Amino acid sequence: MASKEDIQRHKDNYRAAARAQQEAEEAAMPISREHLAGLFDHLDAALGREPCQHTLRLTRLFLTSHSLPEATVVPWLGQYGGYCDCEVLANVEDRWGE
Ligand SMILES: [Zn+2]
Repeated sequence: MASKEDIQRHKDNYRAAARAQQEAEEAAMPISREHLAGLFDHLDAALGREPCQHTLRLTRLFLTSHSLPEATVVPWLGQYGGYCDCEVLANVEDRWGE
């Protein structure tokens, strides 16, 4: 049977690994937190006016107007389930929003 110390050590290891994973994901972000928050605000406002066309039109518009690299940001959004404007808002904000 695992001792209390063993269980605690496993928990500590797990937390350290989870933190390292989180830090690695943060370091791999191709867009700053500030720009990402701006993108979510932009999509939130735009999708309040018109329905999502199930494209990344609004996202791409924001990226180009802020000189952000579409070529790296778009696949990164896809990694978190953001394949169209409403999914960026739903899935990516769920993961990376405040
Ligand atoms: Zn959509």
